[in-house]
Amino acid sequence: MKIDLHMHSTRSDGRLTPTELVNLLAHREVSVAALTDHDSTEGLDEATAAAGAHAKLRIVPGIEISASHPTRSDSDVHLLGYFMDRADAALQRQLSALREEREERGLRMLANLERLGYPLDWERVQQLATGASIGRPHIAHAMVERGYIAAYKDAFNGLLNNGGAAFVGRTGVTLEDAARTIRSAGGAAVLAHPLYVEEYETIIPRLPDMGIVGLEAHYANYSREEQRILVDLAKRYDLLPCGGSDYHAMGNENEALPGADGPPPEVLEALEHLARAG
Ligand code: AMP
Ligand code: ZN
Ligand code: FE
Ligand code: FE
Repeated sequence: MKIDLHMHSTRSDGRLTPTELVNLLAHREVSVAALTDHDSTEGLDEATAAAGAHAKLRIVPGIEISASHPTRSDSDVHLLGYFMDRADAALQRQLSALREEREERGLRMLANLERLGYPLDWERVQQLATGASIGRPHIAHAMVERGYIAAYKDAFNGLLNNGGAAFVGRTGVTLEDAARTIRSAGGAAVLAHPLYVEEYETIIPRLPDMGIVGLEAHYANYSREEQRILVDLAKRYDLLPCGGSDYHAMGNENEALPGADGPPPEVLEALEHLARAG
């Protein structure tokens, strides 16, 4: 049974529409999937409707919230949420504010790129984002189009990566804020791709106190050994070992496909139970 609790659509920086993504999930025989767009739940209705055509596929409502890092201004932390009521007013207020911050931040990253000799048109970046949650991948694609770099991922080699020369961090929402919002919307919060979090060794032990119930241990882009370490850490701190592919349809040759990895069914069950129990 394939379970995948992490993926993106065109409602953030993924390159498939929610419907295209759902059709791919069905084709790959994924049983349960969560759409976790960055700072947006806008794709969930379309994904759920599209899944209606596939009797064996269940779509779980998800989100990936971009929070500020507890100690580092040149970095951020991603918090996944599952099973929230997406009509929750406080949740939608926080997501709107984050999407607005993404616009300002995008403009600032473009100013940095211009200073570094890579001028881009903001209008083009906005077009690439198709009105959705704007992010670094849209800027990276605009750079490829202009011929500044050969491949999308080259933008994350010194320029747009965390701490890169054109990178702009986030100020909006702390990890505690994001966890509280997910919880009060009836959801369960899970730390995304922990090994990408600066100082994760000191942050993971504090997660339960923040109301975070899981750790993304079965993450497709981590090796077996890394996943084993994360499963052990999850056990030690009483966190659920969640996971998924983080599929964006970027089309790089080694991109993990939907259903490539994820938690076992009992972890999903426990996650849903925790969300329902509040
Ligand atoms: P943003 O939401 O603007 O902070 O951009 C985050 C997204 O950029 C991630 O979800 C990835 O899709 C992409 N990204 C971040 N760092 C890298 C990296 N080092 N290599 C490739 N893609 C990256
Ligand atoms: Zn992304
Ligand atoms: Fe992420
Ligand atoms: Fe993601």
